[in-house]
Amino acid sequence: MSKIILIIGPSGVGKGTIEKELFKDENLNLSFSISMTTRKKRDNEIDGVHYYFTDKKHFFDLIDQNAFLEYSNHFDNWYGTLVSEVENKLNQNKNVLIEVETNGAVNIINRLKKENKEDKLISIFIVPPSLEELERRIRERNSDSEEQISKRLARAKVELEYKLYFKHIIKNDNINIAINEIKRLIEKG
Ligand code: 5GP
Repeated sequence: MSKIILIIGPSGVGKGTIEKELFKDENLNLSFSISMTTRKKRDNEIDGVHYYFTDKKHFFDLIDQNAFLEYSNHFDNWYGTLVSEVENKLNQNKNVLIEVETNGAVNIINRLKKENKEDKLISIFIVPPSLEELERRIRERNSDSEEQISKRLARAKVELEYKLYFKHIIKNDNINIAINEIKRLIEKG
């Protein structure tokens, strides 16, 4: 049975690298759930590839029609996972990776639990070996100011509290081991 896959973790934990590697593995039969947003399209983005871009009126109409599995607001823009998007991909026998932030993921977990559809879900939370190591990795990226680093770390501490909602907790100590563990979870279904 194809599954909904949620991979969550604090910023700097290596989620981007892990997901990139997962998509390279054709055996995983992975497909990305394209979210809908009211945010303005950036120059490098393509409508229908990175997001479905829309306006607030249409977004709110879709909320009224229960078209979203979950939705939320970040920085004054709306983002949502479309039920139709996820179902279409599941119906094509694809495993669907949903890219959301922690709150969105917890909303999906709670909703599927309520609907007795937990067996459709593989929920994975990636943790760093320690907060010190996470800080080292964020600093290594060299792209953040001191203030941004403090904010990221404070946020990471809060986000780590949510790990108990997730069925699988994977420690990213060694990225290749973490990737292989996640591949095995997806293959097992
Ligand atoms: P960005 O505007 O940089 O593409 O994304 C901003 C934030 O929105 C990121 O944290 C991203 O994970 C989150 N996001 C993207 N799509 C969705 C979605 O469908 N639902 C929710 N809840 N968050 C989303």
